[in-house]
Amino acid sequence: MKILVINTGSSSIKYQLFDMNKKKAMVTGLAEKIGEDTSILTHSIVDNNGDARKKVENNKIPDHAKGLKRIVELLVDPEWGVIKNKSEITAVGHRVVHGGESFQSSTIIDELVISAIKENIPLAPLHNPPNLKGIEVAQSIFPNAPQVAVFDTAFHQSIPPKAYLYALPYKLYTKNRVRRYGFHGTSHAFVAGAAAEYLKKPLAKLNLITVHLGNGASMAAVKNGKCVDTTMGLTPLEGLVMGTRSGDVDPALPFFLAENLNMSLKDIDRLLNKESGMKGLCGINDMREVEEKAEAGDKRCKTALEVYAYRIKKYIGAYYAALARLDAVIFTAGVGENSSFIRSLCCSDLEELGISIDKQKNEQRRKDIREINISSSKVKVLVIPTNEEKRIAQETERVINLK
Ligand code: AMP
Repeated sequence: MKILVINTGSSSIKYQLFDMNKKKAMVTGLAEKIGEDTSILTHSIVDNNGDARKKVENNKIPDHAKGLKRIVELLVDPEWGVIKNKSEITAVGHRVVHGGESFQSSTIIDELVISAIKENIPLAPLHNPPNLKGIEVAQSIFPNAPQVAVFDTAFHQSIPPKAYLYALPYKLYTKNRVRRYGFHGTSHAFVAGAAAEYLKKPLAKLNLITVHLGNGASMAAVKNGKCVDTTMGLTPLEGLVMGTRSGDVDPALPFFLAENLNMSLKDIDRLLNKESGMKGLCGINDMREVEEKAEAGDKRCKTALEVYAYRIKKYIGAYYAALARLDAVIFTAGVGENSSFIRSLCCSDLEELGISIDKQKNEQRRKDIREINISSSKVKVLVIPTNEEKRIAQETERVINLK
């Protein structure tokens, strides 16, 4: 079975074609700057060793429909393709950012599902509209293939009211749907599943803290395989310190900024989403660069790393309390998978909680799942490379097999 996974942004289409029998991606690619004069389409064929043969095109892609059409042409191209005919694609899996409270799980897309995704646009005005565009375009190119929506928010729908309600007038929840939703669900779900496989235990018996540290960052508390709390909230701004996002701040901060600095709502939005986080603290949002500068003696970079890791450590403590018993802490995504320094800062002095990192194991640079705790550590500490596209393909296969 072959499944095409599509992640459509406002001016981009990320895609991967999976061979589900071999459980592998055959092709990965990205069409960027759609609608601009300088569009770029990067198409990579992955061989059996995971190495890629790459083709880059710089022809203008005027819209998403033309972009996906060109991607499909490449997929069936005699030199750059991996299939003979688009009918070999059994199903298309779509990343959809916000499913609100409408979706607890991935689902086959029909008219009702499209209406529900539209209803959730106010909750994700930048993401759901391009996701819908991707669905519409794929439906016209693959009229006979089932289309499946996999939601970033679905994994978090098991969070109980005590964790998802804000202490605000209740009507804001019932009428305006203001509550914690959480994001990165596909990644948290993928690494939780991979941890269960690695630990050879049913996911339903595991208590985990998953720590996704990429440009965006979030954590989830997973009890008996189900998410019971997460750091992102109504929007992806809440929680951890991120590349350019502040994460948790005093909710009165916007009043202070408006009254004392004369900032508009738009200014405050930009400040918290684009100019804060690591960038705000030390001027740099690429974690590699921050670490290099800190090592070279830059004090602000060092302090920024401490703020970043301290927030994570605080949530490890909070989620440990929420879970009562903890089997493993899992680090994933760009920073979580690659930065031994951040991992060691987040887990420092937690021996009393049963969390002890092995310095040497933590320093190892590998691409597979690895255990970095000392052998006597009560709680496992795992580094698991995330693969959101693979999870979307797995979910798509699962959903179409239920039909
Ligand atoms: P992602 O959003 O998962 O692609 O993660 C992007 C983040 O990972 C960026 O802040 C990168 O600086 C960071 N990153 C990637 N490689 C490393 C590394 N070797 N050490 C520290 N951070 C890294």
